[in-house]
Amino acid sequence: MDVLGYGTFDATSRLGPIVFNQPEAREGEVEIEITHCGVCHSDLHQARNDWGNTVWPCIPGHEIVGIVRKTGPGVTAYKEGDRVGVGCMINSCQSCGPCEAHDEQYCEGPVSATLTYNGTKIPSGVNTYGGYTETIVVREEFVLRIPDAIDSAAAAPILCAGITVYAPMKEFGLKPGHTVAVAGVGGLGHMAVQIAKALGATVVAFSRSEKKRAEILEMGADKVVDPTDEDAMEAEAGSVDLMINTIPVPFDIAPYLSLMRHDGRLQIVGNMIELEAFSPGPMVFNRITIGGSLIGGIKDTQEVLDLCAEHGIAPAIQMIGIDDVNDALDSLEQGGIGHFRHVIDMRSLRDSRESMSQNASRAEEPVRFQPEAG
Ligand code: NDP
Ligand code: ZN
Repeated sequence: MDVLGYGTFDATSRLGPIVFNQPEAREGEVEIEITHCGVCHSDLHQARNDWGNTVWPCIPGHEIVGIVRKTGPGVTAYKEGDRVGVGCMINSCQSCGPCEAHDEQYCEGPVSATLTYNGTKIPSGVNTYGGYTETIVVREEFVLRIPDAIDSAAAAPILCAGITVYAPMKEFGLKPGHTVAVAGVGGLGHMAVQIAKALGATVVAFSRSEKKRAEILEMGADKVVDPTDEDAMEAEAGSVDLMINTIPVPFDIAPYLSLMRHDGRLQIVGNMIELEAFSPGPMVFNRITIGGSLIGGIKDTQEVLDLCAEHGIAPAIQMIGIDDVNDALDSLEQGGIGHFRHVIDMRSLRDSRESMSQNASRAEEPVRFQPEAG
């Protein structure tokens, strides 16, 4: 089936319409008509090839909400018309140690977990295309239920931003009495503030943005500190049990390390590129751990959706049309000052397909592409 998506064929071009062939749902698979898709900073990293592994064309998007349109043979968990979500994975081996432990994102199977975009489909070996498309086909085990209390636009960012910050809190055993630091308050960070608060922690947000300060406090942060203010940073020294660091670029970790308390854990989820050189002395003298964490398993993703429903946690979103997605990516590249998360109303993509067929001379002509095994 031909579907329309929005993506790019190289690291420097703006995203534009691409038509490609998407196989129908096979046994155990669910076909979802996408209604909403969040714009994550990882979409930008992948489209710009920041990680050096992008397979072209790249069609990003892994904060997906939609409606089940078809189910393949043997699907029992979902039926046509269900409102569902898809995060950063659409399949995994489902039998290795991490998969059995509900940590499918760390799948050790022959080809690792199949990421929603820039992943390798099992068994075809074809590249995966993400949520900036009309429809997506996903293994039923990787489909999430959207609680009735959460509307579709608000659910989307929980599927990547929400789970990525929740998983390390759960793994740490976060509880009331702990102090959580959130460094970088964008898409991930603003979910971290709200989720850590719901788990009973004291929350200190480290944000450079004066414009976002009042909103971050309203979201439940006990304090907002400007990380560029050395005196303010000094005042927080030795106070943090768990830091969720979402800064998406190489940065100086030393000022953040000095915030950590004895036995604290500084969890990096943002920067996957490099760290500036730093002295490990403070780590050694206070038994501080620096770690990393990748999204979260499907069971935990359902858990964080339910937790958000229960506590009335919702991302602060700005709705956009598909034509605005390049501007949204530009604003992430410029440091995300002034907003938390963009969510694409995917009806705009269907509308653009209609305007293409009605007025081909005005609309941007989609590039046709036939996916093949790499
Ligand atoms: P955003 O751009 O929405 O948020 C990042 C925040 O970091 C910004 O809002 C800003 O916060 C701060 N920041 C941005 N640029 C700089 C800079 N140059 N120096 C210091 N601070 C900066 O991104 P997301 O929240 O969507 O994603 C954050 C990172 O997490 C990305 O690198 C993304 O790829 C990664 N990610 C990782 C996942 C994982 O599984 N580990 C999953 C999903 C995303 P402020 O204005 O408050 O200072
Ligand atoms: Zn993401």
